[in-house]
Amino acid sequence: MSSAEARTFAVPQERKVVTALPGPNSLALQARRLASVSRGAGTLANIYMDHGAGAILVDVDGNRLIDLGCGIGVTTIGHAHPAVAAAVAEQAAKLTHTLFTVTPYENYVRVAEKLAEITPGDFEKHSILVNSGAEAVENAAKIARRFTGRRALVVLDHAFHGRTNMTMAMTYRPWPEREGMGPFPGEIYSVPISYPFRDGLTGEEAAERTIDYIETHIGAREVAAFFAEPIQGDGGIVIPAPGYFARIAEYCRDNGIVFVADEIQAGIARTGTWYSIEHHGDVVPDLITSAKGIAGGMPLAAVTGRAEIMDAVQPGGIGGTFGGNPVSTAAALAVFDLIEREDLLGEAQRVERAIVDRFSGWVDRYDVVGEVRGKGAMFGVELVEPGTRKPNPALLKHVLKYATEHGVIPLDAGSWDSVLRLLPSVVISEALLDDAAGVLEEAIESFQGVGETGIVPAS
Ligand SMILES: *Cc1c(COP(=O)(O)O)cnc(C)c1O
Repeated sequence: MSSAEARTFAVPQERKVVTALPGPNSLALQARRLASVSRGAGTLANIYMDHGAGAILVDVDGNRLIDLGCGIGVTTIGHAHPAVAAAVAEQAAKLTHTLFTVTPYENYVRVAEKLAEITPGDFEKHSILVNSGAEAVENAAKIARRFTGRRALVVLDHAFHGRTNMTMAMTYRPWPEREGMGPFPGEIYSVPISYPFRDGLTGEEAAERTIDYIETHIGAREVAAFFAEPIQGDGGIVIPAPGYFARIAEYCRDNGIVFVADEIQAGIARTGTWYSIEHHGDVVPDLITSAKGIAGGMPLAAVTGRAEIMDAVQPGGIGGTFGGNPVSTAAALAVFDLIEREDLLGEAQRVERAIVDRFSGWVDRYDVVGEVRGKGAMFGVELVEPGTRKPNPALLKHVLKYATEHGVIPLDAGSWDSVLRLLPSVVISEALLDDAAGVLEEAIESFQGVGETGIVPAS
């Protein structure tokens, strides 16, 4: 199967809004939620979902919404994929838990074997499986420090690496992820990235700026690891200029620094390749973190990399009770199989062509759209104040509010909350993308300018 039109889905792949959004059943659930759920779990749209298929979510009022976000890039293969559901059900009936570090099982080994095969690099690779992206990043930091015996962790400006204490400190912006939640661990240094839309530098120039910062603020011999999202997700779909990562990887190699690609959002078929670092030429990371799209929505994450680095940790130094559990690994094996059997890398490339065709004209059409950029099914639209490069967060709030009220769910991103983020399933049809684009155009055209509020807080 190679085109979205040839697929069949349990839910019609069409938007259908039958109530106000949120509808009455969502509003009733929202009232219960406010009485029971922490306000700290903020929500983009208080529309409660019941089921889904492909690129459509169906809410508790019977509305069909176009999902352009996949729960932040998780359901890349489409919602509630029958192959994943079957793998989960079968495994759940057989064995749900032993703890791999007490008595192991084959699924864990099979996922590690597959990760060694699909990650870049022609050398022996080993993996550890954990539960969440943040846990993977934090383990990569531990492993790199153990291997190098060094202290400093370098991260890029605008990075997002998670919400544990360590990964909060590795995350760029103070609000909302960090505020009031310190103290944070030390020895984490944020360095300038290559952000072509904002800095106008070539990849080589930006890499020299990054390297100069490390040399003058930290010292290369102190650096255990350099963490980078090859395509930043929450940071605003920032794609460093060509040549940037080649130079950074070379610098890391020359200085004994472990180069870690955080592929949690951009990896696993999302950008039309297995891993997004493949868009940066022949750059081979030492370690790679995977999560989000890896198991069709089941919790699973991994650190994969050079065997000598991964094996530097003493037995018992990394791990955890639920990591790589039998059911999540069964789901991941089903996802890997689907990506290959249904050519989902090709599907992500099809989505890229469709988005470029349908959305890139916005730059000429709207003076509030500065750039449309992305790879595969991972795009960002820079919203700016008319005719400038100044971020326009008020417009993004308006667009999100308008879109969710009209049955389309996009995402926000960017350090200034001004990048409209699109992470649809790679099985989304051209017709759905076209319909969603129309709604987003109405949203942009209906923006009045000031005093708009959009991201509906839980309270
Ligand atoms: C989501 C994300 C994380 C954190 O993953 P969680 O599963 O939410 O802990 C880390 N890095 C990147 C690039 C991400 O997108």
